[in-house]
Amino acid sequence: MKILIVEDEPKTGDYLRQGLSEAGFVADLARTGPDGLHLGVTGDYDLAILDVMLPGLDGWRLLQGLRAEGKQMPVLFLTARDQLEDRVKGLELGADDYLVKPFAFAELLARVRTLLRRGKPKEATDTLRAGDLELDLMRRRVVRSGRRIDLTAKEFALLELLLRRRGEVLPRSLIASQVWDMNFDSDTNVIEVAMRRLRAKIDDDFEPKLIRTVRGMGYVLEEPEPD
Ligand code: CA
Repeated sequence: MKILIVEDEPKTGDYLRQGLSEAGFVADLARTGPDGLHLGVTGDYDLAILDVMLPGLDGWRLLQGLRAEGKQMPVLFLTARDQLEDRVKGLELGADDYLVKPFAFAELLARVRTLLRRGKPKEATDTLRAGDLELDLMRRRVVRSGRRIDLTAKEFALLELLLRRRGEVLPRSLIASQVWDMNFDSDTNVIEVAMRRLRAKIDDDFEPKLIRTVRGMGYVLEEPEPD
């Protein structure tokens, strides 16, 4: 899942990006309103976290800009305590939730997960399955054949993408845009390395193999045929 953060306060922005990455999300950070709008319109984000007071374009205008471009991702506003009355304005403009600064990261994470789940059928988002492999999105847990498998945040995000789009051959460029942030360097083999590690964990000790390399095309996770 990909999250856009627009926050001009350096410490808060870095803290959010790092925390969300560690929680298994792909997080991009913009530090001005116009940069945030550009990323939000051109990128494919599942959620946006917007500060209200931003250089260039405030959070309200940014939200209007996103909606005007047809971007319907849920939006969580960050607002200072003395701007609390502004939340009414934000909700009227189509924000989905707000959080008053300073906030505990656990609180933000809970709001983010609730927003991402909202409006989607429960079983479609809480657990993803292929054969005897299960990925629990809320508990961030992966189990195969009843055995718990520990994945890094990146491996988890990779597996989540493969499961959501099972049966589809995913090119490297798509994997990069969905699982790595905007600083991804396409000249490196980080995708191959991460994919090899993921396969070692979820496929090496099990049958049938779920992830397959399609030479020259990308990777696919295939649901095993029922017996
Ligand atoms: Ca600000």
